[in-house]
Amino acid sequence: MSKINVARLVETGKPLEVGVADKPVPGPKDVLVKVAACGLVPNTSNVVNGYTPFTLPALPAVFGLDVAGTIEAVGDHVIGLQVGQRVYVDPFMTCDNCSSCRRNRRDLCPSAYYRGYMSPTPGGGALINQYPYGGLSEYVTAPDSRVAVLPETIDLRTAARFGYVGTSYGALRKAGLGPAQTLLINGVTGTLGVAAVAIALGMGATRILGVGRNRAVLERVRELAPNRVSTISSEDGVDLVEWAREHTGGEGVDVIYDCLGVGGDSGSTSGLLRAARPGGRAVLVAGGVLGDVAQTYMDILMLDVQVMGSQWFSAEDADQMIAMIGAGVIDLSFLEHRVFGLPEVNEAIERVGSRPGGFENVVVMPGQSTVSR
Ligand SMILES: [Zn+2]
Repeated sequence: MSKINVARLVETGKPLEVGVADKPVPGPKDVLVKVAACGLVPNTSNVVNGYTPFTLPALPAVFGLDVAGTIEAVGDHVIGLQVGQRVYVDPFMTCDNCSSCRRNRRDLCPSAYYRGYMSPTPGGGALINQYPYGGLSEYVTAPDSRVAVLPETIDLRTAARFGYVGTSYGALRKAGLGPAQTLLINGVTGTLGVAAVAIALGMGATRILGVGRNRAVLERVRELAPNRVSTISSEDGVDLVEWAREHTGGEGVDVIYDCLGVGGDSGSTSGLLRAARPGGRAVLVAGGVLGDVAQTYMDILMLDVQVMGSQWFSAEDADQMIAMIGAGVIDLSFLEHRVFGLPEVNEAIERVGSRPGGFENVVVMPGQSTVSR
């Protein structure tokens, strides 16, 4: 059996080890993908260091959440996908047979897990080792249903970002963001937040308000579209609800997108709900925020601001988003790719763990032994 290069987590809290493994073989309904780029999300550092309440794959494990690459082989029962196609491999895996999956709510599957990453659900630990190769590997296998074909116009390093871009896309779509609407993003400077600005611009939002902390990144966010985007630091001591109303003709925003990072303050989320217009929506996506989000009974009755959660995104969301990015309707050209080879995987994890902000795209390119960043 031929061997491939991989990076493994052998013990949590220790550096990953680069070594070789058997090349994975696709099952009848799987594809084999040669990994061009594996995206690292900021929380990767917490996960490999064991700072997570969620279930990890059995160690030693090949981590790596978001894969973009090229199909090298397809299983005997795969139709509609061909060798040579460029693809994004969606790591959100589900049982596909529970009552939630069967009514097209895979996001609510009690056995859901993120391949090459972790499982936040009670049943995911039983499935997470079924596809043991994450993207920090020269090859992965994936079910054909978890693969989205990419147009030539999308760079594979950009596609390795699609987990979190897709999370923002799916959430904004779920909240019904559309043309001529207004949006407030809590946590705008991070990976999810900056992506949400680009998506909202593409969706036709006319006023985008961003709340964050890092002033330099806030200014870069504003510069993406100075006539449509306004930003403010949560540390400026400004009443953010008043600020949002001032920027929306006194109305309040149509949609609030809350994408705080791990350890975020749920109190800030509660406070910002009053920045929504009556009948508005708030969608929460931050996986690491603990604590309560509250509305008063009378506010619920009189203002009817719907609060919803959104986990990951559907295959339909992925295809829509890819079409919009491929056509330039959603413009991700601001991304700065910071590329690491597999031998430098620990540097890459450290880099993304330092939370460089939503403009930087940290990717590992396993086929590349030298640094090109
Ligand atoms: Zn399920």
